[in-house]
Amino acid sequence: MRTPTLDIRQQALRAPVERSPPAPRSGGGSAVKRTTAHLADGREIIYFDQDDAPPRELHDPRTLDPVSTASTMRHDPVLDEWVIMASHRQNRIYHPPTTDCPLCPSTSERNTEIPSSDYDVVVFENRFPSLSMHAAGGDTHGLPPLVESRPGVGRCEVVCFTSDHDAAFATLKPAQARLVMDTWADRTSALAALPGVAQVFPFENRGEAIGVTLGHPHGQIYAYPFVTPRSRQMLSNARAFFERTGQNLFASVLSGERSSGARVVASSAHWTAFVPAAARWPVEVHVYPHRRVLDIPSLTDTERDDFAELYLDVLRRLDALYHRALPYVAAWHQAPVSDPLREQAYLHLQVSSIQRSADKLKYLAGSETGMGAFITDVLPEDVAERLRAV
Ligand SMILES: [Zn+2]
Repeated sequence: MRTPTLDIRQQALRAPVERSPPAPRSGGGSAVKRTTAHLADGREIIYFDQDDAPPRELHDPRTLDPVSTASTMRHDPVLDEWVIMASHRQNRIYHPPTTDCPLCPSTSERNTEIPSSDYDVVVFENRFPSLSMHAAGGDTHGLPPLVESRPGVGRCEVVCFTSDHDAAFATLKPAQARLVMDTWADRTSALAALPGVAQVFPFENRGEAIGVTLGHPHGQIYAYPFVTPRSRQMLSNARAFFERTGQNLFASVLSGERSSGARVVASSAHWTAFVPAAARWPVEVHVYPHRRVLDIPSLTDTERDDFAELYLDVLRRLDALYHRALPYVAAWHQAPVSDPLREQAYLHLQVSSIQRSADKLKYLAGSETGMGAFITDVLPEDVAERLRAV
């Protein structure tokens, strides 16, 4: 038994993949050197280097067990949402000491996930993936017919932002942040071209407070086989807004915030960062390009350089807010790969934090967890004012 919306999504899964156009290389940005190899268990690793970087070590001398691919997903018919089940992830490395960091470069004494002795930015397939192109699916025994189950097909990648274990995204040089941006663009195009991938989601979880298991500055990229619930809701609202007004919803929100200025944290020639008027989290900043594009690969060189400068400024303000490294989730909202809702999208980055004071975290309690109704004890205008002032 299936819901009508599920059929729409299945059609979307079968539709031909719409590839993002190659990124324009119009500005003065340096070329990126891309080197691909495979780790001992067959996972792909890709180095993204400034063009003057030395050659990278491609051989992984370790002996590794095959990667577990037991990911499965089940459809919740009540909320009409897919839930991914990756029980094999329980065995993953948890808070290793710095000397055991798997994201640092390899040395003559120690082999890590990165065989090279150095790197600029590196991407590799997660050893404990929530989604895998080889997912075999899980046990469906005892599931009611109403609950559909499918293999968790997709891909999960790790992006190391720098080889410096003690750095943070906020402390990167603009050229390095730009290289991360080029890496996100490359991976978005590559993952969107994989069969069955419906949405590519680059993100960063930062800080132990939100469950980060490795201290090395890194992010992740998920390639989902469905359009995520948040994106589907936002884009459905955008379609209704467009049918009503002929305008793009996100462009109208951005325009309203720029006109008001009350919640703008920082802006540049091509980007604006603001606290949304109905922010849910104690600290929440959205970063939009002024030109509506659907995804990161569509950004020009100039827009990418400009983002690096502005985002670093925003991150430094966030860390200055409580005079400590702010735990946050930075989430890129990109257009789905080939869903009919794709054309409503507007690329933007959402940075959210559960830190509600220097020493207090916000927990999702009764109203948020039970009913999805957020209650916040700070006014977005006040948060924006404080972020502007630091
Ligand atoms: Zn490290």
